[in-house]
Amino acid sequence: MTPIKTQNSKQLGNLFIVAAPSGAGKSSLISALIQRANEGHLFNPAQLSVSHTTRTPREGEEDGQHYHFVSKSSFEELIEADAFYEYAEVFGNYYGTSKSAIADKLIQGVDVFLDIDWQGARQVKAVNPEVISVFVMPPSEAELNARLVSRGKDAESVINDRMQQAKSEMQHYNEFDYVIVNDNFARATEEMMTIVKAASLLCGKQEIRFSELFASLVD
Ligand code: 5GP
Repeated sequence: MTPIKTQNSKQLGNLFIVAAPSGAGKSSLISALIQRANEGHLFNPAQLSVSHTTRTPREGEEDGQHYHFVSKSSFEELIEADAFYEYAEVFGNYYGTSKSAIADKLIQGVDVFLDIDWQGARQVKAVNPEVISVFVMPPSEAELNARLVSRGKDAESVINDRMQQAKSEMQHYNEFDYVIVNDNFARATEEMMTIVKAASLLCGKQEIRFSELFASLVD
């Protein structure tokens, strides 16, 4: 797997991993963050990396927007072609981040968000130690259960499976740099923004942003 460097190779954009059990509010949090970034409230514009998956689209999901929906054989061809930055099998389906989804955006100064599970997070960290990882926790087990049920998109057996999967995902929270407990959406969004802002203020990033200023002040 080829490392995608961030700070060292003078890319202004930061790479973020956001992981969570389903039902913790991760997707809404990432969407809110990207909206705030693109309204100019953060240093860089932001985008979500669109993953490939072999699972069937849920109602309302569009190909190329939520995921690139592909067959298992197409996914396996992409694995063979070394097209993935990371991939994992989650709930019996393949999910993966293609290399092309990331590198160019970071160079262009876009913050890229990976909505991936803990297995993908481990792979990305192994090849790119500068990645900033965030785990989102639900405020309680009861609330998590209620959120999984109120989605109404899946059958009860699927919801029960997801509750078990959620528990196994949460076992890995302490492998992440930051943890947000999503008991209040507005506050969780602010906390996420704080992490993104701090990453943009790292010395290596400011040197790129203010190269002429720093050169003139330090010469
Ligand atoms: P869902 O099917 O609910 O959209 O996603 C199921 C799980 O797969 C979530 O935990 C999500 O973060 C994870 N996931 C989505 N895309 C990727 C990916 O590209 N790589 C990995 N490793 N996990 C992913």
